[in-house]
Amino acid sequence: MSSSGTITSLEQLEQRLELKSEERAWKEEGLSLPLAITEYYFNLINPDDCNDPIRRQVVPSVYENERLTHESDDPLAERMFAVTERLVHRYPSRAAFLTTDKCATYCRHCFRRRFSGGSSGRASDEEIHSAATYLATQSQIKELLLTGGDPLLLSTGELDQMIAMFRSQRSDLVLRICSRVPVTWPSRIDAQLIAMLKKHATAPFYLITQFNHPREITAESKKAIDLFVEAGIMVLNQSVLLKGVNNDLETLVALMENLVSIRVKPYYLFQGDLVWGTSHFRTTIAEGLDLVRALRRRVSHLAMPQYAVDLPHAGGKVPLQEQYLKELHPDGKSIFETLEGETRIYQ
Ligand SMILES: *Cc1c(COP(=O)(O)O)cnc(C)c1O
Repeated sequence: MSSSGTITSLEQLEQRLELKSEERAWKEEGLSLPLAITEYYFNLINPDDCNDPIRRQVVPSVYENERLTHESDDPLAERMFAVTERLVHRYPSRAAFLTTDKCATYCRHCFRRRFSGGSSGRASDEEIHSAATYLATQSQIKELLLTGGDPLLLSTGELDQMIAMFRSQRSDLVLRICSRVPVTWPSRIDAQLIAMLKKHATAPFYLITQFNHPREITAESKKAIDLFVEAGIMVLNQSVLLKGVNNDLETLVALMENLVSIRVKPYYLFQGDLVWGTSHFRTTIAEGLDLVRALRRRVSHLAMPQYAVDLPHAGGKVPLQEQYLKELHPDGKSIFETLEGETRIYQ
């Protein structure tokens, strides 16, 4: 399943956009993520701004061909935690199933570029069956992430079958649909999809999406979110902190506040993973912490995501937290810094 009018080559892109030399110099090679930009998402780009934050997320550049020594193709060591071909079981209480390697639009900052847009396609019935069989034996797993690629690139019928197979083994499993389709191809979200999900509501669904910039919040994407929320499906957002896209305070404030206004709860703000070809997107952790500290002064806690990093060499996710508790004494006295930078003592 794909969106009609998707741009899939530099030649097509060049007819619509004046490319910069570093964009034109991108070479599609064995390891690279393919180029795909839906017509809808392309139209969010301001063609007059060569540093446009929407453009930066989807137009490839020659910097993707760089590989730094501390980067790898699989920093989260998902291969090591793969318990079946498609099922990654990294954390005791949840697992991630790679439904398909296809996306509507490929994000140039993709951390799963070893898999996304490759040649594996959608999970076969055997692969779904072996994952479901594993889940049946692992009652400590409470949540299954349907991810990829992007699960909403499957047709509604294919998704229906897949969910039925998981539900037949584990009707109690909370299912997270991890999809950027509400951002890049919102017209895919239709009444049939929602009605299909409702059929499988023996346990809740959550939608985890990825808005990275306030300009991605449009009437169309709001409509897609509304369909989920009105069906009783809670929507959470995982942003990635991206240099030249959203690494400034005003952008983050607008993004988080506008998400809350369309009933999307900011969940994570991720530090960039140490993945090959993404160094041009990464900020320092010090910069991220400064932004989060400033963000906390501006927005409600409802609008506040958890800043986190997925540590290399299979370290897993850890929260990155600004510190307000400065000293903790054995006599019970604690010294705090307030959000405004003043000192307070809690005894
Ligand atoms: C991030 C992730 C999860 C979910 O983690 P939460 O912190 O619960 O959102 C599950 N499995 C894998 C492999 C992940 O990378």
